[in-house]
Amino acid sequence: MERLLEIKNLKTSFFTHVGEVKAVRGVSFHLDKGEALGIVGESGSGKSITMMSVMRLLADNGKIVDGEIWFNGRDLVKLSENEMQKIRGNEIGMIFQDPMTSLNPVLTIGDQLTEPLLKHKKMPKDKAIERAIEMLRLVGIPSPEKRIKQYPHEFSGGMRQRVMIAMALINEPKLLIADEPTTALDVTIQAQILELMKELKQKINTSIILITHDLGVVADVCNRINVMYGGLIVETGRTTDIFYNPKHPYTWGRLRSVPNPKTLVKERLKPIDGQPPDLLKPPAGCPFAPRCDYAMRVCMTHMPPLFEVGEQHKAACWLNHPDAPKVEAPVGRRH
Ligand code: SF4
Ligand code: MG
Repeated sequence: MERLLEIKNLKTSFFTHVGEVKAVRGVSFHLDKGEALGIVGESGSGKSITMMSVMRLLADNGKIVDGEIWFNGRDLVKLSENEMQKIRGNEIGMIFQDPMTSLNPVLTIGDQLTEPLLKHKKMPKDKAIERAIEMLRLVGIPSPEKRIKQYPHEFSGGMRQRVMIAMALINEPKLLIADEPTTALDVTIQAQILELMKELKQKINTSIILITHDLGVVADVCNRINVMYGGLIVETGRTTDIFYNPKHPYTWGRLRSVPNPKTLVKERLKPIDGQPPDLLKPPAGCPFAPRCDYAMRVCMTHMPPLFEVGEQHKAACWLNHPDAPKVEAPVGRRH
């Protein structure tokens, strides 16, 4: 498989009046062409900041302090803002949680869809409109010839998210980054949008990174998953490894909070007690230690490395050390 993205030891911080917030603390992973990768974690885990670093869209006080981001043969960390502008919306498409705030309320859907074509591809206007109609049809919007003349408020939440996906894909980006694309939508629409993303992955040859707090969302769409916690990847593996053979207590906790689709109403979801670490003063040891039922003395003082626990499967937990006490994972095999 051909490599599309390779992130090496990425560290991103925010410099605030109270000090340096180490939001991403040394993250390495890769994505091959045609793959769909899920990045899962709760808010503050560093999942969005990792991808905002890739897009180089950090707030003014945010900075990539170390690491490399290789995309299609170039280190994005080293590119100028001008060069990045050519990549954003062209080679990398992005969709966000709230399609209403991402769409411009005073421009028609057609104007917004054709803008990247006119800007990046210098396409003639009539060709761009044709392509926009084709994209709307592809993402399942009925009567696109009529809809293209309408404004965002004339679309439902689910339809707006479809428009956002069309817009992100219109230039056939090599990579689509979707940050909580279904969080603002109700469950049925959520399922439809995920189904659409799966379909589009087949139809258009785009690699996908799907960022979410909900492990259930990535199960169907992604072939691999990174679980993030406290600015680090704590477990990474194929989707089957993560669901059926998880090796990190944080992943165990997250799996317990995934609703089982068959027993959705009956089952009570168990959130993980406690708070994520304060990244102004990140702990010396395992960031999950204060919330972990299995914490040992070593966990408090020493950061666990990412242990290899399978072919493409790694977990940053001392329980995977050969001398660690044997613990039976309380979850696994859930569907
Ligand atoms: Fe729990 Fe220790 Fe593993 Fe961290 S390293 S998840 S504290 S057992
Ligand atoms: Mg986020």
